[in-house]
Amino acid sequence: MRILVIGGAGYIGSHVARALLDSQHEVTVYDNLSSGKPENLFSEADFVKGDILDYPLLETTMKRGFNGLIHLAALKAAGESMYEPEKYSENNIVGTINILNAAARCKVNRFVFSSSAAVYGEPTYLPIDEKHPTNPENYYGFTKLEIERLLSWYDKIRGIKFAALRYFNAAGYDVDGRITGLEVDPENLLPIVMEVAAGMRPKLKIFGDDYETRDGTGLRDYIHVTDLADAHVKALNYLEKKNESLMVNLGSETGITVKEMVESTRKITGQPIPAEVVDRRAGDPAVVLATAKLAQKVLGWTVKHSDVNTLIASTWEVYKSHNQKK
Ligand code: UDP
Repeated sequence: MRILVIGGAGYIGSHVARALLDSQHEVTVYDNLSSGKPENLFSEADFVKGDILDYPLLETTMKRGFNGLIHLAALKAAGESMYEPEKYSENNIVGTINILNAAARCKVNRFVFSSSAAVYGEPTYLPIDEKHPTNPENYYGFTKLEIERLLSWYDKIRGIKFAALRYFNAAGYDVDGRITGLEVDPENLLPIVMEVAAGMRPKLKIFGDDYETRDGTGLRDYIHVTDLADAHVKALNYLEKKNESLMVNLGSETGITVKEMVESTRKITGQPIPAEVVDRRAGDPAVVLATAKLAQKVLGWTVKHSDVNTLIASTWEVYKSHNQKK
């Protein structure tokens, strides 16, 4: 298929573009390179440097004709979304409306959307399935939920079939080392732990060790980005075959605590990784854990790389060169 990957130079988007190319799809990446990286682009894919707030360019690009699109272009810092909501309204919601309008007018009828476990908010039961109430704790999660609702309307009225993929905690790097762009100013645990291991920041702050978990630190469901990417390819195939919309969780169903992540990273990297326990971060639940049975059933998707060792070792491969440069 001919696929437009919007946000395809970013951390997850570049892994998705790689997976599509590996499955013999034709790929065009559309990205404004605000957080995406030129080194995340592949020579086999076309590239359009563009912003999702640039409606005319989106429409011109989509007029080239695509069998589907994958939309990963978004701001994703949950904390920041609570003090700069306007940025999130504009980039995430207005930007997606532009994409939907261009897709409707250019008849791009398959839409895979990067959604998030943030749509659920504080879990009321575990593991979280797709029927769990949606009650976002932050404005970022609200933008993702609102976009899912927009997608449902464009499905009903315009026949755009969508797959909303609710990611849990994405981590890891391409195990074949083909993607090496580092995220700038990361806010997520594993890249921060890696920056400490590589000497790029002095120490890790552990946000609370008095949660009701096995060691008191937050427990999350980490999913390897290559497993995530594979689910996007499967979601496109599903939309092509079934012509039916879908909302699914993508998680590994395995919980790792902050302390476990740090301890395993110390072992794998051989680096000391100084860490200090600080106050809890506002809005952080103790445990977030998915059930991904639906994705397994309808997409035939299973995780292959989401064990803690692969998550850490594949990330260290990318960060360790920075350690050597010290
Ligand atoms: N965390 C931490 N220190 C950091 C970043 C994250 O202790 O510098 C913890 C956070 O409190 C949570 C887990 O690591 O328990 C995963 O956080 P992340 O921001 O990666 O993802 P979230 O689950 O919040 O989307």
